[in-house]
Amino acid sequence: MTLPFSNPQEELSIVSDDTAALRTLLTSISQAEREFSRAPNSVRLTIASKQQDATRLEPLILAGHRLFGENRVQEAAAKWPELKNKYPDLELHLIGPLQTNKTAAAVALFDVIETLDRPSLAESLAKELPRSGRHLTFYVQVNTGGELQKAGVSPEEVDSFITLCRDDYRLDVRGLMCIPPVSGHVSPHFALLAQIAKRNNLKQLSMGMSSDYKLAIQLGATTVRVGSALFGNR
Ligand SMILES: *Cc1c(COP(=O)(O)O)cnc(C)c1O
Repeated sequence: MTLPFSNPQEELSIVSDDTAALRTLLTSISQAEREFSRAPNSVRLTIASKQQDATRLEPLILAGHRLFGENRVQEAAAKWPELKNKYPDLELHLIGPLQTNKTAAAVALFDVIETLDRPSLAESLAKELPRSGRHLTFYVQVNTGGELQKAGVSPEEVDSFITLCRDDYRLDVRGLMCIPPVSGHVSPHFALLAQIAKRNNLKQLSMGMSSDYKLAIQLGATTVRVGSALFGNR
């Protein structure tokens, strides 16, 4: 017998698939911590939730997950305020590029902006933060591959940019984030990010996605950003 498509069982099975996938993923992260001699629970999972709607995310929250990353301010602003009201301890990271005309909306919604990547944005954030009364922390995005079309500060300029953000703009910079080029080995990019963090005394490293999060954990990631390994291909 085939169930009709609208059968509620069908929806339930989708829900439990996601929570089962979450458990599997968390187990795999713990295993990688052990395998690579990282401290237990030193790596956090940021669920990359772009293009997933609230009905699919809430079961993951109910299963205990709290940390999510979104790419677009507008999409996140449509999706998250209601969930944040319901679950006040949610932690929301912006992992996509931020245009300065969306600074106020981003500051109102996100807890961490991982894509701080240029002086004009640092200035805009520094102006908005006192107005908002909120405290955000920041990661600087580094263009480790030096790709022309990609966001991020170049490895040559990153030290002085971090100093600018901290000293001139008084932004609470805690870490670094990178998205390595799609082709080629990712390890040198993760290693470079870790090296830049160390010499700037930054503790947080956001690196690694579905295809390479174990490698990122090996090389020091403190948070991995995973979407498709959890939800399937978008
Ligand atoms: C979508 C996205 C991810 C997750 O990518 P997957 O390959 O689906 O795990 C991580 N980081 C950023 C910045 C993303 O946009």
